[in-house]
Amino acid sequence: MSEAAVGATESLSLLSLTSDDFVREAGKRLPRGSGKARAIFRHMSSSGRFEPETFGLSNEACAAYRRQFRFELPVVKQIREEASEFGMTAKAVLGLSDGYEIECVFIPMGGEKYTLCISSQVGCKMGCAFCETARLGLIRKLDTSEIIAQLYVARFELGWDFKNVVFMGMGEALDNYEAVVQAIRVMNDPGGLGMAQERITVCTVGHAEGIRRLAGEGFKRLNLSISLNAVEDALRREIMPIHRRFDLRAVQEALIAYRPRESFAFGVNYCLMPGINDREEDARGVAEFCAPIGRALVNIIPYNPGNQPLTRAPSEEETERFIGLLRAQGLVVRRRLTKGRSVMAACGQLGNVELRERRRKLRIASQPG
Ligand code: SF4
Repeated sequence: MSEAAVGATESLSLLSLTSDDFVREAGKRLPRGSGKARAIFRHMSSSGRFEPETFGLSNEACAAYRRQFRFELPVVKQIREEASEFGMTAKAVLGLSDGYEIECVFIPMGGEKYTLCISSQVGCKMGCAFCETARLGLIRKLDTSEIIAQLYVARFELGWDFKNVVFMGMGEALDNYEAVVQAIRVMNDPGGLGMAQERITVCTVGHAEGIRRLAGEGFKRLNLSISLNAVEDALRREIMPIHRRFDLRAVQEALIAYRPRESFAFGVNYCLMPGINDREEDARGVAEFCAPIGRALVNIIPYNPGNQPLTRAPSEEETERFIGLLRAQGLVVRRRLTKGRSVMAACGQLGNVELRERRRKLRIASQPG
């Protein structure tokens, strides 16, 4: 096939590829110079730059690389930071090529460790009552390159030195299954970003079907956490509408089937909302939910009131009391420190006001008459 014919194919986004994908595609698409593909990819993953020109290739071969592959990052539109005794929490608002915005958050975990919380969708359709993102509705899903681009921007443009990544930003990760699974492969690729699976956490509101599919992917060390938040059907249905599709029994069964290895521990996230889910029977219900799924680590997240709060934030005393109730049930419990509240970067607070306003205008503009 002539180069002109090869050049007619649509360019591929580099950030959606593993190194093996890239080497394979370079071999198919480039008339010459594909032998350098692995080195070019490794250099891109460690420097944040796509530079075939630095590998001694001819101008023609470099031009062919650039025609066939594209490297695009979103624009950093805003950074908001909040210092605390635990370190600096920072939220980045990133502008996508179609004008929509997503958010990712750099979170101190104690010591020198930081986690990057990334988005998988623009908005979200899951409708959780305690969540700002839910108020946007689902605008669209991110593709793999837009998910991975958040890591590149954070690491290479913002200098955020994170060790772990969690899918806990805007969107339900398992509602964007294919793009998220390919993003996990790209992160985990030893010829690329090289992140160990145990440094990656998929967080879901209880998408039982997605959990079952994920079990079949063969990720032995990937972390999985579920947002539980309520243990009674009526309450969970009300604050987490996904419960109507997948109730707790369905989620439990999916988690039991998921377990990738004997020592695996699930994360069970529980957003503590005073007067809503902080009774003794709630603590008992958490223990009953966890009993059949094997090892679990319960993360208590004190509720962050957003713009339309369901309730107030729990006091220190209330939080400690509930943790005590859980421990009395024999559960292993960790308290998630509340970080980033003032920059709207805390759990359930992603979903910026401008984006909501833009969506509202789009809706009005698209109404007939
Ligand atoms: S908590 Fe997560 S799943 Fe629920 S609406 Fe918010 S972003 Fe979506």
